[in-house]
Amino acid sequence: MSLLSSYFQQNQFCILVEYLTSLNEIFPVKKQFAGYPVVMTLADRVHSDHDTSPLEASKLYPRDLEKVLHFAGKGRDIHDFENFLKQARKADIQNLLLLTGDKLKEHSNGENGTARSRYLESVNAVMAAKKAGGFCIGVAFNPFKYAEAERDAQYLKLHKKIKAGADFIITQLGYDIQALKQAKAFLTQHHYSQKILACVMPLSLARAKFMLKNQVAGIVITPYMLKVLEEEKQAGLSERVYLRCALQILICKQLGFAGVDLSACHKPAEQALLESYIEQYRHLNLDALEKLWNELWQIHTGAEFQPELSYFSRPPSSKQLFKYHQLHLMHDALFDSKLGKGVGRFIFKAQIWQKSTATKTLLKTEYISKHGVVGCESCGQCRLGDTLYICPETCPKGLANGPCGGTSLDRCEFGDRECIHSVKARLAKAVQQTQVLKEKLIPTVPIEVRGTSSWKNWYLAAEA
Ligand code: SF4
Repeated sequence: MSLLSSYFQQNQFCILVEYLTSLNEIFPVKKQFAGYPVVMTLADRVHSDHDTSPLEASKLYPRDLEKVLHFAGKGRDIHDFENFLKQARKADIQNLLLLTGDKLKEHSNGENGTARSRYLESVNAVMAAKKAGGFCIGVAFNPFKYAEAERDAQYLKLHKKIKAGADFIITQLGYDIQALKQAKAFLTQHHYSQKILACVMPLSLARAKFMLKNQVAGIVITPYMLKVLEEEKQAGLSERVYLRCALQILICKQLGFAGVDLSACHKPAEQALLESYIEQYRHLNLDALEKLWNELWQIHTGAEFQPELSYFSRPPSSKQLFKYHQLHLMHDALFDSKLGKGVGRFIFKAQIWQKSTATKTLLKTEYISKHGVVGCESCGQCRLGDTLYICPETCPKGLANGPCGGTSLDRCEFGDRECIHSVKARLAKAVQQTQVLKEKLIPTVPIEVRGTSSWKNWYLAAEA
């Protein structure tokens, strides 16, 4: 059992301190932080797509130092992940945080003859790590969602991550305590025993401005928060940045979080300042801590942490509903019924399909008949029946199991469309199919399957 698992088992609040692999300097890693045990975490490709891998970076630190290695699925496929697992095991790494990851800086949408960038979904990585066995598996979760459908989609995917085998959950960085409380309540309500940790970071004015300007995926910084930080800086009260972080850590502890993931606080002087504030305020109870937190942020309603709702969830249109029902009927008849499977098997067992001209024609026919209707990209493993007939390939990351954490008020992280997972969550509610989005773990598509006919693959697999 990893040390981190034992902290979880003993309900020992712990501090995960995050280090970027792009740092030029090796900083000393403490074993204790304000009296709480420390676990170092190494992030995966935060600054650039070519940062040193967490596995390589981990070799620069003592082997007996407890570590959590991040693995982001961006630009990776399942075979890369399986290799990573083997190497992690060799290096005696037991704790993993499995993420889909934000948009690759060098993302390719497959135009102009370039290969489209692929993203291995966290759900699929969790399934593979669980199957390999012996790892303490963490997943990310973003509770800071303020449009109904995107919030629903996040929680539906969290169900899947847990079902796939997650042992612990780390939230996105965020400052809305109410949203953190909801995430904790969700686990209690569903009797999930997984541990939850909150990502925290001393939020200086410069960092807040950077995140707002660069629209860092999935992080909510409101103009109101910026205003408070600006006033504070002008009044020479910048140290409040660390006081606030200390309060958030203590609040999370009182709320029953298993720990925090401390980001952007790796310098000894920053850590010492934060520790001093934790020591100073740790005697306060939850009410007193929250009161102080609200005073520092000048909070009156809690809405100060929420973005302006400029994009509202709408119920599915009658056209969307009609399309869903038509495709559902067709799918049932052709792919799920006994008769459909029998006919399909008969057709695809014929010798003709050994010829490349026949398979090419088949692939073209499938593409032409589906691309205009659902945006098919010939992935070879049709998942429409599990995605309410919304093709996962129309998500720029190609995610089938649910959204990444990067949406903003139903908008895709890529900014050019509505998130298909919000659309799906809304449709699921309307046609009472939410259970599918909550429970069905959709396997990843191996690279070698792409560009083949999903029809042929489906019927031939149905035979087995
Ligand atoms: S899931 Fe695959 S086969 Fe099905 S429509 Fe989308 S790209 Fe085409």
